[in-house]
Formats: sequence, structure tokens, C-alpha cells
Amino acid sequence: MIDLKNIRNFAIISHIDHGKSTLADRFLEITNTVSKREMKEQFLDNMELEREKGITIKMRPVRMIWKTPKCDIGVEQEFILNLIDTPGHIDFSYEVSRALAATEGVILLVDATQGVQAQTLTNIDIAKSLNLKIIPAVNKIDVKDARIEETKKDIANILNCEESDILEISGKTGAGVPELLQVIIEKIPPPKKDFEGENPRALIFDFEYSEHKGIIAYVRVFDGVIKKEQEIYLSKSEIKFKAKEIGFLCPDYSSQNEISAGEIGYIVTGLKEPSLVRVGDTVVSFSNLMPELHGYHEPKPVIWANFFPASQADFDMLKKALLKLSLNDSALRFEEIQADMVGRGFRLGFLGMLHLEIIAERIKREFKIDTINTIPSVVYEVQRKDGTCDKIYSAANFPEDFKISAVREIWVNAEILAPEVQANDILKLLKDFEGEIKDVLNFSGNRIMLKAEMPLRELMRGFFDKLKSVSSGYGSFNYDIDESDDKWRFANITRLDILINEEEVSALSRIVPEHRLSKDAEEIVEKLKDFLPRALYQIKIQARAHGRIIASRTISALKKNVTGHLYGGDRTRKMKLWQKQKKGKSRLKEKSRYQIPPDVFLKVMK
Ligand code: GDP
Ligand code: MG
Repeated sequence: MIDLKNIRNFAIISHIDHGKSTLADRFLEITNTVSKREMKEQFLDNMELEREKGITIKMRPVRMIWKTPKCDIGVEQEFILNLIDTPGHIDFSYEVSRALAATEGVILLVDATQGVQAQTLTNIDIAKSLNLKIIPAVNKIDVKDARIEETKKDIANILNCEESDILEISGKTGAGVPELLQVIIEKIPPPKKDFEGENPRALIFDFEYSEHKGIIAYVRVFDGVIKKEQEIYLSKSEIKFKAKEIGFLCPDYSSQNEISAGEIGYIVTGLKEPSLVRVGDTVVSFSNLMPELHGYHEPKPVIWANFFPASQADFDMLKKALLKLSLNDSALRFEEIQADMVGRGFRLGFLGMLHLEIIAERIKREFKIDTINTIPSVVYEVQRKDGTCDKIYSAANFPEDFKISAVREIWVNAEILAPEVQANDILKLLKDFEGEIKDVLNFSGNRIMLKAEMPLRELMRGFFDKLKSVSSGYGSFNYDIDESDDKWRFANITRLDILINEEEVSALSRIVPEHRLSKDAEEIVEKLKDFLPRALYQIKIQARAHGRIIASRTISALKKNVTGHLYGGDRTRKMKLWQKQKKGKSRLKEKSRYQIPPDVFLKVMK
């Protein structure tokens, strides 16, 4: 068994793009965990989508061995460092909170060219609430216009620490990185056990699904030892299985005979049914049950969309895909719905628009399933005139106006951190998104902290991206939702339907505020005109609200040259052929309903 004194478990946290994954690369390099030959930038971002988008979506644990040089803590010593790289985008903060529950400390990275940003503050709060040791480091000191001193001052203020305690590093050049490892060893406490002896207790913080191994659990062992072939029991799920294989993530699977208290590793469960297990469960020995560990709060989805397989034959495949995805992404929620027009499908709940986009892409790429998705919606509470009251999650279920007596929606608390000079632009933006300013505070570095309340519906309408563009990338943003009753407010909204050739396409329906109704209607029909492929007949696109058509466009028919082979001027023969073609087209239009290609639904959503 490894001496706990020689283990350090830690995560890297920061605002998005402040350099977590790049710093992780340097750690992998100097500890020789990954050879020079295998090394590539942001090594731990190995999902195709992560590499493409340049962001971390999944947390990724890795075990490294580090030999300290001789220094004040004594002789040369070997340490085991379990590092978890985390995503920075607000939509993935549930990943961060789980990663942190498996560690004793964090490196808090702040990009010296950007300074403290909104997610920096949120992450500090999460780390503090878990009583983790925070090691602050200013990153990107290699950049010419890095504001190192200013950033250090900010951090010192927020963390209430000495500026001299803040490290200066560059994840890119590696400057200061060995020193940082040394500080991790000195300052982050080694893991502690609650119980002596071999009887195991571990927390599941993540899962992975492997086609041939089945469900693999990522665990942090808190007590005792887990042995290969041991009879394991999951306390919450009440499932028993044999640990087929156990080991460390180095970062590839490295099979071991046992993993012991203080370590982070994996267990191949042999289980195949994703719906049976969940993160936050406690792993114990079947023959010697130990008390459950504290798990996680269930994350609450904030935005919903219905997904249907483009071909109904793929329904079971889509269901399997969602089960596997939700194993790997425990913030994803889904349930089966019965839909009349499009067929059977699922209602999916997400933590934000980026989360939705990533899941939609993963279904398409990793599982090769084409889906049709409805326009995403937040939840509304609709009170009908007949006295009934329901939570409505999609526009297709939103009642007609004359049946509604009142609608309520959720408002969120938002915090924006931005340069003072952009204050006016941001205030204007907030107004466009129906925000109400609650407070404006001065923040260091000629910046302001704006506190506002706004409808969740508006927030999900791309507020984040707009903020980034009006603030030239300097504005950052955070929000929280508390679903207490006083956060629900009355909403003046209505349903906007889309008709293609007189037929309603329920997946394209959306809920919009009355004051933006005609503008949104024009925008969507125009967009569809651009996105929809032409057909041999004319395509009519209409937007309908309050029982009336309020915007429309047409896409003209593709012309096939039916008279091309007739040269000369025989007008009557040409007329005959044209008429025949016209008849054919109207028959064509009747026979085959115009099929909207699945990717149009994704395009419209963005
Ligand atoms: P993450 O979102 O926190 O994981 O950030 P990444 O590690 O993906 O880095 C974001 C961007 O910053 C990438 O383009 C990196 O190449 C760049 N970057 C990271 N660290 C440094 C650094 O120390 N110096 C410079 N100049 N660029 C860096
Ligand atoms: Mg990253």
C-alpha cells in the first residue's frame, strides 16, 4: 500500500481559455508521463469535438510520478500526483464540482492578459465550499502585454492572501512549472482516511462506456483497498458486481492488482446497462458494507429540446446512445415522449446552449444517428383559463393564446465583469435582453461588476456570445438560478409556428416575447429560405402567430429544361411539354411531403 504522505490529488480550475489544459501538458511532460513523441497540444482534450473547438468538455484524470529534487522538504522523494483537468465553460461546471470532490486542492490559474474573470470567482467559491487548498498562479507571463502585478493584486484581494504566495508561470514555455509542482507537494495536504484497515470505500466521480469492457467507473478511493476480482457493491444503486479489472489512468488504462486509499483510478464493472448506475455512488466491499460517502447534488437542466430520430427505425439506437452519453455526461437528462406528428422521441434537458450543441454533435458523430430536434426552450408555467396549470417544456405543447390566462418564467441572477469603458454598450445589451440592473460596483483594473436579473429565456438567446462581441472578449459572465417562487415572473410571450407548404412543422415552433414577434418571424422565414434546399416545386415558408400568417417567403422551383432537345420554333410542342411538366410538379407536391434535411434543424437552432 502506498504511503498517503506521498500522494497529492489536485485539479486545475480557471475561467475558460486561461490555460488549464496547456499547463496539464507541461505536467505530463516534466513527469515523463507522456513521451515527447506522443505529446501534442492540450493532450488531455482527446475527444474529437474538444480538439476541433479548442475547449475541454470532459474532466480528465491522470496519474503522474514526480521525483522532487533535493530541497527544503528533505531528501529526494517520489510522489504520486493525481491531476484532474477540468472544463472552464459555465455549462460544464457540474464536471468541475465532481472533479473537485475527488481532490484535496486546486491550482487556480489566472491568465495575466485577461485578469480575474467571472468564472474565476465562481470556481474560487466552489473550491472554498469544499475546503480545498487553493494554490493561485498567474499564467501566460511569456506574453508581452501580460499584466502580472495587477493580476496578482486582484487575486491577493479576492483570496485574502499575500502577493508573494502567488506563482508566476507560463504553461506555454514551462517557466515556473517545476516550482509549481514543488508548491503542490508542500502545500496541498495529502489525502486522509476516515477508517483504518483494508475495507474499501470509494466515490464514483465519472464513468466511461467501452464497447467491449462495458461500464468503467472512475473512482477516488477514500478508505481501504479495492482488489481485482473483489465482490463490489454500489450503495445507492444497490448493485453487486465483480471488479473485473482495476487500475490507474496514466493517462491510458494501467491495470493493477489493487488501488488503495488516497488514490484515483478506474474499475471495470462488467456491467452493461448504463441506466443502473450513477455518479456520486459509493463503492464498497459486498462482504463488509461501509457507510455511504457524501455524493453530489443533482444538476438542474435549464433548457430543453425534443430529439427525434430522423428515421423512426433508429429509435432504439438513439435510446442506447442517450444512455451511454448520460453515463459519460451525468448532467444530461432525458425521458421518452410520445409525439404524434414526428413519431417517437425524447425530451432532453441541458445545462446551457453549448451543452446542447455538444450533445447534438456527439449523437451525430459518435453514434452516427441523424436526429430532428425541436427549437430549445426554457420551462414555462402556464395557467389555463379552465383552471389547470402545467409546466411546459416545448413550444409544440404551448397552448393557444385564447386558452391561457397567465404564463410565468424563471429569472436568473447574472454577474458581468467588464472594462468600465464598455459599460454603456453592456447596459444597452442588457436592455435588449430584458435585463434589470441591480447593482454596479467598481472592480480593480478599471473594471466594473454589473449585477442584473434577466429572464432565463433571454439568457439562452445567445447572450453570452453577444456579450463577448460587444466587450471585444473582455467581458465575462456568470449566472445562477434559484428556483424559489419569487424568481418566477409573469411573461408576455406567445407561440410562433412555422408552416412549410401549408403544413405545420412542430419542431420549428418556438416561444417568443410579444414585442419581438414580427421581427423574429421575419428572421426565421428568411433563415429557412437560405437553409432549405430547393425542390422541383415551389416551397412556401410561413410564420404563424395568434392564428394569422405574419411573415412568409417562397423558394422557387428548380427548373428542369424539358424542351432543350427541341430546337427551332415549334411553340405548340414546347407548350405541351411545359404543361405536362406543370402537372407533374403539382402531383409531385401532393405525393411527397417536402422533407427537411436533419441538419437544417441544427442550423436553425444556432
Ligand atoms: P483552458 O481552456 O483553460 O484549458 O485553456 P487552454 O490550455 O486550452 O489554452 C487556451 C489558449 O491559451 C491556447 O491557445 C493556448 O495555446 C494558450 N496558452 C495557454 N497557456 C499559455 C501561456 O502560458 N502562454 C501563452 N502565450 N499562451 C498560452
Ligand atoms: Mg481545457
